[in-house]
Amino acid sequence: MNVIPVSEPSSVADREAVARPKNGPERCPICGQAGGREWLRGPDRFHGRQEKYTLLRCPACSLVWLSRPPQPSEMHLHYTDAYHKLISAAGEKSPERWRARKTALMPYKQCGALLDLGCSSGSFLEFMRSESWKLYGIEISAEGAKTAEERTQAQVFVGDILDARFPRESFDVITCFDVLEHLYEPRRVMARVGEWLKPGGIFYVLVPNVNSAEARVFGSYWHGLELPRHLFHYSPASLKFLGESAGLREVSLETQRNPAVGTSLRYVWDDVFSAAGIRRTPAAYQGEASLPWRAARKVVRKTVLRALLAMAPLVGGGESIHAIFRKESRRPLEASPGAVEVQL
Ligand SMILES: [Zn+2]
Repeated sequence: MNVIPVSEPSSVADREAVARPKNGPERCPICGQAGGREWLRGPDRFHGRQEKYTLLRCPACSLVWLSRPPQPSEMHLHYTDAYHKLISAAGEKSPERWRARKTALMPYKQCGALLDLGCSSGSFLEFMRSESWKLYGIEISAEGAKTAEERTQAQVFVGDILDARFPRESFDVITCFDVLEHLYEPRRVMARVGEWLKPGGIFYVLVPNVNSAEARVFGSYWHGLELPRHLFHYSPASLKFLGESAGLREVSLETQRNPAVGTSLRYVWDDVFSAAGIRRTPAAYQGEASLPWRAARKVVRKTVLRALLAMAPLVGGGESIHAIFRKESRRPLEASPGAVEVQL
């Protein structure tokens, strides 16, 4: 079966309204609870910028979100070439991560139609390429989508996830790796996932864990904040709540170590130097480090970082949340003893 997406651009005014709610108390964008409290304030440390952003935390579902984020039309200022370069280099340099994700998926689905949300240049799709899978992607960057199509023969829709119109129940698997935290309307996207999955279909999502040891230890220096590109910061509980809001059932949710303590420490050092009147080149624009600096970093990795990593499990979970949800079968279970679930 070929799944043909049809573009249906949504109103820009609608998007802007979502990005900037009216003045007054903000309700939790996931569960609707009032009374979100300030969790922290911090700048875009990657680009070394000064403007401070405020994060709020929901007292009910524990979601953390960026209060009054930049407008979608301003976001190109925050997604610089340096950022894109970093992301694409990280994707290409670590084939083991894609292998691990394929392995995680295998117990649940071994064949069918697979859609990767935010597929970038197709690193994961390439790993899934085989006779068993018909591959699809959605990618906002035309250049990334073109590369993904060329290297994987997947059919890639270019644009926003909410602008793609796939027929209902098109996919056996939908994946979403390091993307959900960037989206303005996670509830609508999750509802779309629920609509696009076949009954019994699998949604495999990965996001940074705001309850992780690194996030707790480093606060506004935690590299996973990526202000203001990450609009939402999930905990296992808030991610589960979001999945269930779209009628999906959690079948597996775990946190995994994905330490990048070096980057968080670098941000701390940037501030230390700045207090001494020395402005360092921001991480976004640094070239290859000099030999003495690389040697110093190696010493830190072998001492301070090793100690921090050893203590990490005492203060929080791993840095990334890997969750697998299943769309329930069309026929709900009868509430009778001995009922057996049949996946369609
Ligand atoms: Zn909430």
